[in-house]
This record gives sequence, structure tokens and C-alpha cells, in this order.
Amino acid sequence: MISIMNTKNILVVEDEASIAEVVSLYLKRAGFTVQVASDGKLAMGMIERQMPDFVILDLMLPEVDGLSLTRWLRDRSDVPIIMLTARREEIDRIAGLEMGADDYVVKPFSPQELVSRVRAVMRRLGREQGEAENER
Ligand code: CA
Repeated sequence: MISIMNTKNILVVEDEASIAEVVSLYLKRAGFTVQVASDGKLAMGMIERQMPDFVILDLMLPEVDGLSLTRWLRDRSDVPIIMLTARREEIDRIAGLEMGADDYVVKPFSPQELVSRVRAVMRRLGREQGEAENER
């Protein structure tokens, strides 16, 4: 069993409700706590109230776009970031990685793959929840 205290809180910043919904569902099933922001400005407000353990953000967002949000986040935190991008946004994707995003997933993606990538980034950064401590 994973204790509540170890549960990682993931902020999903995505304006397409159907994508936000399916991503949230898969992350919750994987044992994460999930919050959703439907635009970049709302995300900033939520982050200022409480820094999440992980951020998944869409590149094309209303109010504040994903690149600006990544830059803003990196000014104040090393929180892991995975970007959601469309295939045509390669230049922005590269810019996002240069700005400090940890990984990206190209739309359309399988939500299960996204969950695997979240875990992989956490593992790489040594922030995996639950398993490691429980096995000792
Ligand atoms: Ca979008």
C-alpha cells in the first residue's frame, strides 16, 4: 500500500477538456493526486498557492502559453515538467527542453505512455513514490 503522505500531486495544465479528463483518469488510477488548470494563468495561481510535485503542461494554452509557463516555473522551482505538444510544434518543443522541461509527449499520445514517462522522469530524478521505501 502507498501511504497518503507519499502520494505525489500532479498539476495538469491543458485547455482541451477531453484530454485533461483522460490524462487525469489514468494518473489517478496510477495512484497520483491530480489537479487540472485549463489555462496558463490559472496554473500560475494554483502553483503560487501550492507547488505541485510534478507538472504536465500543454504547449498551446490560453492566457499564458506553455513555453512562458515553463520559463516562469524554472525561475522558482526545479519541479519536473513534461510538455504535451503537437507534431508541428517541433521548434517549440526544442525551446521547451532548452528552457528546462524534463521530457515531452507528442499528441496524439497514449495516456498509459504518458503515465510511464511520468514514472520514468520521477525515477531519473529520484522522486519515485511508494515502491522504493516499501521494498526495504
Ligand atoms: Ca492546447
